Amino acid sequence: MRPRSVVDYGLAKRAALAELRSGSLTRDDACDAQPYLLRAARYHGEPTDQLCPVCGRERLTHVTYVYGEELGRYEGRVKATAELAQMDREYGEFRVYVVEVCQSCGWNHLAVSYVLGRGEQSPER
Ligand SMILES: [Zn+2]
Repeated sequence: MRPRSVVDYGLAKRAALAELRSGSLTRDDACDAQPYLLRAARYHGEPTDQLCPVCGRERLTHVTYVYGEELGRYEGRVKATAELAQMDREYGEFRVYVVEVCQSCGWNHLAVSYVLGRGEQSPER
């Protein structure tokens, strides 16, 4: 797999954490993981060794979503990292979004996104 058009959201994340510390962002707003995201983290998430930057009580879980016109009914689905390699061979182009989630306090933020696929337009386009 050769991820391309990689976007690292570390800067936006640090900005959100700084706002949280300064009080201009409330903890309720920062830790607003929706029930479906918490469920996805619990059942389909992948553990990381990073501690939650907000509560420090639990390690963050990564939830990976895939988006792309070619994906059809798979668009917006949660995928395991291991499944991406096959999708990379199967599809021309799709974007992967990785969200970090704390299952303890509800902190959630985009970690990174990137494009995978063979790099061809699909024939029907
Ligand atoms: Zn937390």
